[in-house]
Amino acid sequence: MKFPKQWQSATDVITKIENAGYEAFIVGGAVRDYYLQKDSSDVDVATSALPQEVQAIFTQTVDVGIDHGTVLVLDCGEPIEVTTYRTESTYSDHRRPDEVNFVRDLPEDLKRRDFTMNAMALRNNGVFIDLFNGRQDIDAKVIRAVGIAAERFQEDALRMLRAIRFSAQMDFSIEENTFNAIQEHVASIKFIAMERIQVEISKIWTAPNPVRAIHYIQWAGLDNYLPGEFDAIEWEQFQTANRQVGWAYFCLVNGQDVSLLSAYRCSNKDKQFVKQVLHAYDKLQNEGWQQIDYLLFELEILQTAHQFATWQYVPTPISFDQIEKAKHALPIQHKSELAISGKDLLQWTSQKAGPWLQDALQAAIVAVVNGQIKNDKEQLKGWFHAFNNEG
Ligand code: ATP
Ligand code: MG
Repeated sequence: MKFPKQWQSATDVITKIENAGYEAFIVGGAVRDYYLQKDSSDVDVATSALPQEVQAIFTQTVDVGIDHGTVLVLDCGEPIEVTTYRTESTYSDHRRPDEVNFVRDLPEDLKRRDFTMNAMALRNNGVFIDLFNGRQDIDAKVIRAVGIAAERFQEDALRMLRAIRFSAQMDFSIEENTFNAIQEHVASIKFIAMERIQVEISKIWTAPNPVRAIHYIQWAGLDNYLPGEFDAIEWEQFQTANRQVGWAYFCLVNGQDVSLLSAYRCSNKDKQFVKQVLHAYDKLQNEGWQQIDYLLFELEILQTAHQFATWQYVPTPISFDQIEKAKHALPIQHKSELAISGKDLLQWTSQKAGPWLQDALQAAIVAVVNGQIKNDKEQLKGWFHAFNNEG
């Protein structure tokens, strides 16, 4: 198998480290993805050289996490993260090692990694270092902890959720022993920061098989320790590439409980998106969307709300494909395209500025999108006088 083109910088870095008399390998998720012949987002390099030794080999480096042994090398094109082989000592808080020790021995470094598929190394010449039969597990589509599973989850409780997340992303099952250990240790998820849990769950939402992860969450009883309900039945049809859509659907199937977003430390931007989608969903379900809704909601919001109705087996008055057409058929695409402004209204009346101004503009927008009046200044002037006399 040839290395992907994007690995050129990494293999150049490895060659330079080897020429300086140390070892270096591609490690972690990139090796797994390479074996699967899948594109990998980032390539990590592990080396026997100490961080200071790595810095001495290259001219342009940044210490991004020197305590953890990571140096960013900029010499060879793409920035490459180079991390010194390390072991991790006791984990008294179930999430972070009490100290990291740099070592010169690759197997020591591979042993501390979470799953067999993530614990392989790849030499520059294409030879795999696969001490825990990661390739065999990948062939069998199983996620298996490296070493004694119970101990590994005891050390770092996030690994439980990582196993479940990988099951959704790769459509793999969790090996029995590994799964039993998760079941036993679910309670220790409480030691993990919600921000980190949120990242893993976001990856579940956008995975090809999110239902698989939700089943595992239920079977393991992890849902007892996480905010919200995880009910696989609700997710059978769900599919998205957008994590925000996942969070919106999670709130929807939890009785529209948007406080879950705060519980999982989602951003304000996420909250805005979710509120809009739920609002559009309610309108669709109740009175159906009016012209003004097609104007005020963005296409993505409308489409997402429509998908939710489909996934919830709620009948809809229009088809998914009609949404975009309905939006484009509007006489204006945005509020700002209205042919008049507040200034015009003030010129046409002796009234002083006040809240009525916004109301009148809003009414003008509704009249225009409903086709009651053309988006034309003169016609809107006539409309305004009539509107003003009534009001
Ligand atoms: P992704 O595709 O999500 O990036 P990845 O396997 O590359 O998957 P990273 O979080 O980028 O995951 O971690 C890189 C590597 O570091 C992993 O492949 C694994 O070897 C190791 N690793 C990461 N997190 C842990 C952990 N919590 N415990 C043990 N090893 C870990
Ligand atoms: Mg990675």
